[in-house]
Amino acid sequence: MTEHDIKEIKALLIAPKQIVIVPHKNPDGDAMGSTLGLYHYLIKNNHKATVIAPNDYPDFLKWLPGQDNVVIYESDRSHAENLIEKADLIFTLDFNALHRAGEMETPLSNSEAVKIMIDHHQQPDSYAEYMFSDVSMSSTCEMVYRFIDMLGDKGTINEQIATCLYTGILTDTGSFRFPSSTSTTHLVAADLIDRGANHSDIYNSIYDTNSYERLQLLGVALKNLRVIPEYRTAYITLSQEELNASNFKKGDTEGFVNYGLSIKNVVFAVIFIEHKQEGIVKISFRSEGSFSVNEFSRQNFGGGGHTNAAGGKSDLSLNDTVEKFISILPRYKNTLIS
Ligand code: 5GP
Ligand code: MN
Repeated sequence: MTEHDIKEIKALLIAPKQIVIVPHKNPDGDAMGSTLGLYHYLIKNNHKATVIAPNDYPDFLKWLPGQDNVVIYESDRSHAENLIEKADLIFTLDFNALHRAGEMETPLSNSEAVKIMIDHHQQPDSYAEYMFSDVSMSSTCEMVYRFIDMLGDKGTINEQIATCLYTGILTDTGSFRFPSSTSTTHLVAADLIDRGANHSDIYNSIYDTNSYERLQLLGVALKNLRVIPEYRTAYITLSQEELNASNFKKGDTEGFVNYGLSIKNVVFAVIFIEHKQEGIVKISFRSEGSFSVNEFSRQNFGGGGHTNAAGGKSDLSLNDTVEKFISILPRYKNTLIS
């Protein structure tokens, strides 16, 4: 994003506008934190802004300030389409290809609104007039902080904005432990705390709200964990039956994949989760070091993301998906053991 872009965006935002803000499908902490953080900033500046999420988001985010006003496209389609049609400006946050908005892809690509992308994933598409794309950023929330700063408005960051932005930084950095969290990330987090984010309350709201069923499901996942030492790889499977038995709710499996990575010498961890209704297996990939799960997922499972965290899916059965995965590993042996 150039200084010239910022000048033009400033000019666009000088008078009140109708604005839609969109996170990716299956929104996570960074997607909801960044969209709601930007939402609070825009309404404070007299714009009419609405966050429209492609589908619902996990309960552990249902305390974020402003979340009551989020429109869910899947359950409120005509209202959402009306807002998109009337929008002067559309911000797309925490994704960089319109298909990542699921069924919202069509109304978004049909819209004539000026689009602004703020995102930190690799290989962005070019659907937006203004692109703030930086793969070195810890999170889209850190980028929204910088965006507000570039607009000269850092001083307007209040408790609500700070709380939302801190949330996404916390979740996307794995509580500040991934290499993507830099000294600047910590400085941004510190400034957000100074501006009203309560780091302890935020952590508790996200991570200390386990249900008994979720812990039981974690037990099943850990029992299903397999390690393939010759490829320094670990994977977990969860079948629909296992999910049902633990009364699975959206967000319950968040973070499970990281247990594989915590094993000594494992650099590649995967979780395969069966979604019978959609007829797919959802896959999360995580790595440590230089092995790019973004490339691995793009090449084999129609997904993508970052070097060390990516998602993908498979139309095969759970067993066949795992078999396919294991059969592919030898091709990556050199990178996995180097
Ligand atoms: P997760 O495994 O937590 O769903 O996703 C890990 C990271 O990869 C997140 O940053 C997420 O936005 C991204 N991601 C997940 N699924 C996909 C996908 O299908 N395509 C792309 N390009 N990115 C994905
Ligand atoms: Mn993110």
